[in-house]
Amino acid sequence: MEEKVTVGVSYFGVRDLRHVDEDLEEMAQAGLDTVVHTFSENDLAYYKGTLEEIVRLSKDHGLETFVDPWGVAGIFGGEAFSQFVVEELDARQVFVDGALAPAACPNHPKTRAFLESWVRHAADLGADGVFFDEPHFFKRDPTRWACRCSVCQDLFRQEYGEPMPDTRTPAVQEFQLHSLQRLIEHLAQTAHALHLKTSLCLLPREEELQHWETFARIPALDILGTDPYWVRLGLRETAVYAHVHRFAQHIKTLADQYQKEPQIWIQAFLIPAGTEEDVRQAVRGAVDAGVFNLMAWSFRATAAMSYIRPGRPEVVWQTLLEAFREAKHTGTP
Ligand SMILES: [Zn+2]
Repeated sequence: MEEKVTVGVSYFGVRDLRHVDEDLEEMAQAGLDTVVHTFSENDLAYYKGTLEEIVRLSKDHGLETFVDPWGVAGIFGGEAFSQFVVEELDARQVFVDGALAPAACPNHPKTRAFLESWVRHAADLGADGVFFDEPHFFKRDPTRWACRCSVCQDLFRQEYGEPMPDTRTPAVQEFQLHSLQRLIEHLAQTAHALHLKTSLCLLPREEELQHWETFARIPALDILGTDPYWVRLGLRETAVYAHVHRFAQHIKTLADQYQKEPQIWIQAFLIPAGTEEDVRQAVRGAVDAGVFNLMAWSFRATAAMSYIRPGRPEVVWQTLLEAFREAKHTGTP
């Protein structure tokens, strides 16, 4: 059976509808199917109406439209600040040394209520779905980890029948992933009740692979993915292909087992000049593993964000679009 390849990008940073419209037109012309709009706490506070218009415009351009809790509560991935973390000190994650971490605790009832309200606002926008990106606990370095707040300590004692250790033992790691799983399960259920599709991207951490199944099991989850980026790992060429292919295989296996749609995110930021062909290797690695829902971070190779702009954004963007087109036309690039 021929499966259809769908491709898309994330989009952020532009809130002027004239420019958004032009960019969406460019996406449609380039043959993209999907757009993920960041919907940060800043957007929630000051741009909700604008986002509603952006979502409508996206659908007018024929794009399936997701929104992303970008950096919300410091729990999801994204270069955005959190007002919730600033205001709700008692919901903060607590470092092992007792200091407050700059992120909210996924187990705190206030955090759950806040994120649930984010999902309701996302539904108000008229989006097709929500995209939960890289849920994680705050970690500054291996020794200074969070969270050992009173809520986490109580939950840990209930689940494991012993006090929470002050080192990040395998039990603590497992507890944290189960905590994130419970949060995502709750948010996915909330989203489904509001007729939103749900998508989750897991961080490609080697030591966490054994726990991915707990996320795949979430009944209200539609799309399961990961983002095996390679530049910070120093990988090149066939090593990029192998890296993406391996994580794509993990996702594909779990997705098949639990009837989810597998998705892979392709790195389209921070690509050094001269290594643009690695983007094509990544697309090929994902497709060869049987993953046909491909997304890239981000539109126009993230040229607008100096922090992670590639050496030659235009070359990255054209290479990505070419690889996407090849994947769509032939099934393999
Ligand atoms: Zn906690």
